[in-house]
Amino acid sequence: SRPPVKTGEERLMVAVRIRPLKADELGRCLYALNKKNVIIEDSEKSVRNQGRRGTDKQYSFDVVFGEESTQEEVYAVTTSSLVKDVLNGYNGTVFAYGATGAGKTHTMVGDPHKPGIMVRALNDIFQAVRENEDEYSVTMSYLELYNEQIRDLLNPSSGYLELREDSRGRNIQVAGLSEISTTSTEEVMTLLQKGNKARTVEPTAMNKTSSRSHALLSVTVRHAIPIDKTDHLRMKVKQGRLFMIDLAGSERANKTKNRGKRLQEGGHINRSLLALGNCINALSGGARYVNYRDSKLTRLLKDALGGNCKTVMIAHVSPSCFQKDESKNTLVYADRANNI
Ligand code: ADP
Ligand code: MG
Repeated sequence: SRPPVKTGEERLMVAVRIRPLKADELGRCLYALNKKNVIIEDSEKSVRNQGRRGTDKQYSFDVVFGEESTQEEVYAVTTSSLVKDVLNGYNGTVFAYGATGAGKTHTMVGDPHKPGIMVRALNDIFQAVRENEDEYSVTMSYLELYNEQIRDLLNPSSGYLELREDSRGRNIQVAGLSEISTTSTEEVMTLLQKGNKARTVEPTAMNKTSSRSHALLSVTVRHAIPIDKTDHLRMKVKQGRLFMIDLAGSERANKTKNRGKRLQEGGHINRSLLALGNCINALSGGARYVNYRDSKLTRLLKDALGGNCKTVMIAHVSPSCFQKDESKNTLVYADRANNI
């Protein structure tokens, strides 16, 4: 049975992170006005404070991370409270959304010098478990959803895996997925980087490498608590699960010069992202019926999105004028999740 819903806390947080402008990107068309607002300028302006023109667009979110934001800050604001919840038996989900090249993988995985959310969350979980005298077990799995097919990123040679559920459509599981138990940060970083290299990446006309796959890291914490302090044989188990998801690039199939196979993949990606957006909308609007069946992504996340769970969406954008249309699409998607 689930712990009761906590009251007085927002269930959905929508954040935006703007990655730094690169040396070869000349114009900046998007910037953080303050900690909650993003501006997309109609045309390139070199001076920021020229005042808003009628055609500039402003978007509001729970939190906006500017180009100078650090990995530590992004983790602390978006995910550290979910880690505490998971240790207490609640579920939570963090999504990285945005076009290819907008900074999703940097935020979620990062590199050994700038570790991202996945690494920091696991670190904090391991530390809490070490410091507590109770009995805990921590396991993780890392899978890829590509073209509506599931692969084990910790064991890529195992081929496509099946999604199974019981006759009532509950208790969804991926058959044969590896569940690894580890408490070493170095090992985790190595596993995640190795897993990421195994992700399906294909060249497209728009980007040299366009990640069309979703990567889902799932961390399960089981906490064994004695029912009676004097009797350590009878335990009850509290279980919490944290999903951290590096979503596929949100760029639209019609913008790339793709034909045939890749167009279909694009369709699948949009289907998953559309289904996810619809679910999040329905949930944040308090809908009684939420349709999870439209995509494998939403089926996999059914238990994590419903009920008492907290969800964080981090939308990623580039500040470059060259990516203005993509950034706008991303902010509109995130805004829709925000504003119901
Ligand atoms: P995505 O996963 O969305 O396709 P990446 O995370 O791979 O994008 O980012 C694209 C490039 O930009 C990478 O070289 C990455 O290191 C760099 N980058 C992205 N976000 C940041 C950031 N916040 N700070 C520094 N570099 C970043
Ligand atoms: Mg990526």
